[in-house]
Amino acid sequence: MKQLQDRVIIITGAAMGLGLAAAKLCAAKGAKLTLVDYNKVALEQAKEEIQKDYPGAELLLVEADVSDEAAVKNYVAATVKKFSKIDGFYNNAGIEGKQAEAAVYDLSVFKKVIDINLMGVYYGLRYIIPEMQKNQYGRIVNVASVGGIRGVLHQTPYVASKHAVAGITKNVALEYGKEGIITNAIAPGAILTPMVAGSFKQVNPANPEAAEKEFAQFNPTKRLGRPEEVANVVAFLLSEDCSYLNGQVIAIDGGQSNTY
Ligand code: NAD
Repeated sequence: MKQLQDRVIIITGAAMGLGLAAAKLCAAKGAKLTLVDYNKVALEQAKEEIQKDYPGAELLLVEADVSDEAAVKNYVAATVKKFSKIDGFYNNAGIEGKQAEAAVYDLSVFKKVIDINLMGVYYGLRYIIPEMQKNQYGRIVNVASVGGIRGVLHQTPYVASKHAVAGITKNVALEYGKEGIITNAIAPGAILTPMVAGSFKQVNPANPEAAEKEFAQFNPTKRLGRPEEVANVVAFLLSEDCSYLNGQVIAIDGGQSNTY
């Protein structure tokens, strides 16, 4: 039997990057998936990619902005209607915002980052946990960041939102562990996804590759991470095998966050 056989898992931000890599691996491991994203075109492309590799994969696509509470309610209801239960939640959708010093940070961008990265994560938990309680089983993986355990220059709202995600993770783990609901967060470092490619463009618009190289120098592994390397950890955290690891914020960063 496959590790996630017939497990129903919701993945937000599933159209690309970390979400898509996890969707592919979960499909390979036998899960039934609800793929949520606000980019409809990319979501359709993601579906095609997954079905090309895993023709039998059962997929439900829901276009939704995770910062819209009604849309979140809807993706949860649509999942229960189609699959009758929810076993796993990869609470992944997030944005970086624009890079700027704290005191001059654009307020509208600041609020948008908080709305998506913090409120979006919370809305998902708010509507999915009651479904998991019905079966006294659940696996939740929230996506924080190294910015959820360390400061990152010029990214104040991102760092604030990701520290909040780390905090929410600890509380949810405390409150629902007794009901078979295991909650952890991952804290990825620089993983080469469209979001990080965009970040290097902000750092060095003329030569983003140079910014990437410079960044990788400081990593113990001398390279960036790959989405598939994060997905391997996530698949474990979404599985029954993850049974006593609860309330943790796990850095997946090649060891870089340990340096001083
Ligand atoms: P990405 O930009 O490559 O992909 C994010 C996906 O989420 C996109 O498909 C986008 O359309 C979707 N999305 C964004 N906001 C949404 C919203 N409001 N509603 C619905 N969908 C939305 O980003 P990524 O690098 O794959 O990042 C995924 C998560 O991982 C984010 O929470 C990010 O903060 C976190 N993260 C990424 C890295 C990294 O190095 N890539 C590091 C640390 C944390």
